[in-house]
Amino acid sequence: MTNENATVEQLAKAIRDIPDFPQPGILFKDITPVLSDPHLFAGSIDLLTGHLQPGSIDAVVGIDARGFIFAAAAAYKLRCGFVPVRKQGKLPYRTYEQRYDLEYGSNTIAVHIDAVKPGSRVVLVDDLLATGGTAGAAANLLQRLGVEILEVTFLIELSFLHGRERLKGFPVRSLIVF
Ligand code: AMP
Repeated sequence: MTNENATVEQLAKAIRDIPDFPQPGILFKDITPVLSDPHLFAGSIDLLTGHLQPGSIDAVVGIDARGFIFAAAAAYKLRCGFVPVRKQGKLPYRTYEQRYDLEYGSNTIAVHIDAVKPGSRVVLVDDLLATGGTAGAAANLLQRLGVEILEVTFLIELSFLHGRERLKGFPVRSLIVF
């Protein structure tokens, strides 16, 4: 393991393309080679959080499930709370829920009504921005909690799917753009 920080190029190279997963026509971006490499995983968290001061935000919010991996590590690094946005039916206490459309069917995500105090400063994190449906729904949920979303951050953005258009009004950052 080298002492130098990982670069965005190194991260991009490590992401593995899996054609036709989980269904025909989808080119799945497999991040597990980044996670299993100590240099790349630490580097991805450093790159995601480097511009933020520890103590300057109240929580990092992660989206079920791969968003949790990056959001929890980022929250540790920034010395702030971690908040999970989960799939419907998984959170034990009272929740706000938000439904959003998928290409086929729909999905519902949820957050605890007391997950963060109104007025808190939060960053929303997921592994990948595709159509923006998931992150857009998560941002709507957070607005119902009355928090300030400083930015919506992704490891990967599939720019040809124009997901940013579903996140208008929020600063969007992505490390790797395909
Ligand atoms: P979307 O709501 O279309 O922006 O999709 C984003 C969510 O679906 C993220 O939580 C991703 O983990 C997952 N996702 C969508 N497309 C892909 C892909 N090509 N490879 C890996 N994950 C994907």
